[in-house]
Amino acid sequence: MVTLIAHELYRFFHTGEDETFALRGVSLCLRPGEFVALAGPSGSGKSTLLSCLTGLDEPDGGHVMIDGNRLTRRPEAARARIRAANFGILLQSGNLFPHLDVAQNIRFQMRLAGKPDGGRVEQLVEIVGLQHRAHAFVWQLSGGETARAGLAVALAANPPILVADEPTAEVDADTEGGLIDYFAIRRSAGLTTLLATHSTALTRKADRTIWLHDGKVEDD
Ligand code: ADP
Ligand code: MG
Repeated sequence: MVTLIAHELYRFFHTGEDETFALRGVSLCLRPGEFVALAGPSGSGKSTLLSCLTGLDEPDGGHVMIDGNRLTRRPEAARARIRAANFGILLQSGNLFPHLDVAQNIRFQMRLAGKPDGGRVEQLVEIVGLQHRAHAFVWQLSGGETARAGLAVALAANPPILVADEPTAEVDADTEGGLIDYFAIRRSAGLTTLLATHSTALTRKADRTIWLHDGKVEDD
């Protein structure tokens, strides 16, 4: 069980003369077992925030603490170690190896996290509704199937904190319902779930919703 604290995160991007203030002092706390939705209009900073929280990106100001350990401003090897031990991550850029099939991708992620568990592969494939596609290669999947395979990989090691960027954007209502049930199981096991989402089905089931607007928390 893991607590994540983000303190006053700032992130700026410069393109030519333009400066974008993607995060402007975002603070939040995720307690063990919380199921939290991250909402807000396109461009409000959701994806940037998820990257900073998981140490895939470095904020320009502020810091992230995982169970009292600082994740921010550490060498990449140290961040990678903290990341592997604490997070399952699904960002929009994808987390799949195209030359492996769906089941092989899940097994590979389990090995990376040091938690091999062949028995769970089938269960994970079922949770995301890809029973019939377990042995399809990633390049053979549709957009929606790719997103669901990515989610199964993010869940592979039963991570203390799942961070997913719009995981149900291309998923039918039945599969989404099944995923919401699974997020509830995670909650009762003390595992934390943070999802950037536009889905009201998800925000309704979440313990709380953090609203971002123009790089700031508007409501929590
Ligand atoms: P959201 O996920 O809520 O749609 P993002 O975090 O993707 O928002 O983007 C927040 C703002 O930061 C947007 O204005 C976006 O254009 C900008 N931005 C994000 N990443 C970059 C980047 N790598 N370079 C320049 N601008 C970026
Ligand atoms: Mg985004």
